[in-house]
Amino acid sequence: MIGVRGDGLAESTTIMTKPGLGTPSRPLRVAVIGSGPSGFYAVEALFKVGDLVVRCDVFDRLPTPYGLVRGGVAPDHQKIKSVTRIYDKIAAHPGFRFLGNVKLGRDLQVEDLAAHYDQIVYAVGNESARELGIPGEDLEGVCSATEFVFWYNGHPDYRECEFDLSRTRRVAVVGNGNVAMDVCRVLIQDPERLAETDIADHALDVLRNSAVREVVLLGRRGPAQAAFSPKEIKEVAELEGVDLEIDPESVELDDVTKAWLAGGAAPKSAEKNLAFLAEVAVRGPGSNERKVHSRFLVSPVELVGEGGRLTRVRLQRNEIFAARDGTPRPRGLDDTFDEEVQMLFTAIGYRGIPIPGVPFDAEWGLIPNDEGRVLTARGGSIVPGQYVVGWAKRGPSGLIGTNSPDSKATVEKMVEDLRGQTADPLPEDEAERILTLLRGRGVDVVSFADWQRLDAFEQERGKALGRVRQKLVEIDAMLGAIRG
Ligand SMILES: Cc1cc2nc3c(=O)[nH]c(=O)nc-3n(C[C@H](O)[C@H](O)[C@H](O)COP(=O)(O)OP(=O)(O)OC[C@H]3O[C@@H](n4cnc5c(N)ncnc54)[C@H](O)[C@@H]3O)c2cc1C
Repeated sequence: MIGVRGDGLAESTTIMTKPGLGTPSRPLRVAVIGSGPSGFYAVEALFKVGDLVVRCDVFDRLPTPYGLVRGGVAPDHQKIKSVTRIYDKIAAHPGFRFLGNVKLGRDLQVEDLAAHYDQIVYAVGNESARELGIPGEDLEGVCSATEFVFWYNGHPDYRECEFDLSRTRRVAVVGNGNVAMDVCRVLIQDPERLAETDIADHALDVLRNSAVREVVLLGRRGPAQAAFSPKEIKEVAELEGVDLEIDPESVELDDVTKAWLAGGAAPKSAEKNLAFLAEVAVRGPGSNERKVHSRFLVSPVELVGEGGRLTRVRLQRNEIFAARDGTPRPRGLDDTFDEEVQMLFTAIGYRGIPIPGVPFDAEWGLIPNDEGRVLTARGGSIVPGQYVVGWAKRGPSGLIGTNSPDSKATVEKMVEDLRGQTADPLPEDEAERILTLLRGRGVDVVSFADWQRLDAFEQERGKALGRVRQKLVEIDAMLGAIRG
């Protein structure tokens, strides 16, 4: 800035350069959209960058933080949920602020963010389900695991879903991944074992009246290629009062799989899964009324119903063939058969939900990016100042911990892009401005202290009932508890 005298002549030649972005005189302002694992890990990585001075505002559409740790991880996996303690430590950093109950695309637009922040990080996850794309998917009784999981975990958007398990004895779960295993356990175990957890009250009531006694797990690949981990399938087998059944012929290996295993390209889990499944297969059927039947090398090709309600799933048998690189892949045979089921849950993956103003790759269901830098479209140009982490970046793969190095990698790009950047000093009321904007729009913004009040309230209610917590499942009730 050059000082100018009243008569318009330059008073001096002193040049005052703008402060560097991310320095004490001009902190970097970052908006993180989504408070799931990837959002928290991105904030943590930013706080750990050398001498970077940064203020992170973390937005979430819900009044509650932690994304799928609260809304996805199964209620009988409470230990896994304790990862939130790490997030609470990150939230205690003076540069952290939580702005819950604020939805990007509804309460706030990308232009608002661009006006208030130097960089934006999308950590919005993948919140909708992939579909099978076969006839009959609209029949009553056909549901996505995504909805079921959000429903039993008390996600406010899914509170009104209905799962009529009281008229259902036999259920199919399509998929062999960890979500399929979660859904299977929740459906088949004695509901009293879930009663001490944080499962939503409405789900516990429905499960207590459930007539489900058999779950058929449907995997399109063979037992050696199953997506579940040895621990996950063992957990199903070890459920009290439940038998895991496997047809002995389904663990006989084809030549392609044998060569794959012998060649050393298979993951270690393949051998472990096979050994365990073979052991289960020779055990034969057990005497428990509750059963899980694991079928391999089958794909649903049609869902058949009567009076608009599912009665059968038509399955095509698959065989394993070697792809060009030798990887075993399934392909359909000209051979189908029917399984009688009254409900079917698809657990075949998640995909993102497009947000107005944010690029979206409709085919892959994620935000197009180059190593975390948002692109206008797949293969398009970089959108300056916008980044993506977690499932929104790479799709629905990986456990909670996988998101930590992934977020760190995006943050490295954010820091690279800051090099040499300067900016005008911030106005004194800068931190208040976004809150003023939101309040002006009638948004009841939830702070981290507010969330902690709600958290304590839920835990106390739970304690009185001998439970981990009793979740509130409606936004108004949450806000009511927070505001006292
Ligand atoms: C059913 C299920 C069970 C799982 N179980 C395990 C397990 O036992 N162990 C394990 O390690 N991993 C598990 N995972 C994987 C783990 O949950 C994910 O790796 C992780 O949650 C992905 O983190 P994320 O931050 O990308 O997305 P998410 O956790 O989905 O977080 C996204 C956040 O963005 C918010 N959001 C979305 N849209 C907007 C918007 N427009 N405006 C504002 N906020 C928005 C959401 O409310 C949410 O809080 C499980 C996943 C699922 C689906």
